[in-house]
Amino acid sequence: MIQHCVRCGAPAGNVMAFAYEARLIWLEDLAGPVIPGAGYAFCQSHADRLTPPVGWTLLDRRGPARPLFASLEVA
Ligand SMILES: [Zn+2]
Repeated sequence: MIQHCVRCGAPAGNVMAFAYEARLIWLEDLAGPVIPGAGYAFCQSHADRLTPPVGWTLLDRRGPARPLFASLEVA
């Protein structure tokens, strides 16, 4: 199932979640369906441009950067 960016509707590869009490926002690789209310799917572009509110900390827990466009292997 393809998740779509909550901002622009593009296919999402990242998920943003937060802990309100700890004023913590983090980004992770999208590994499965996003649980409504627990996280938000983001495309690469919006995840990269995410800025935390004043007083919050942003943790980038995503894996190593991948190329924006993967090369296609033609069999
Ligand atoms: Zn987006």
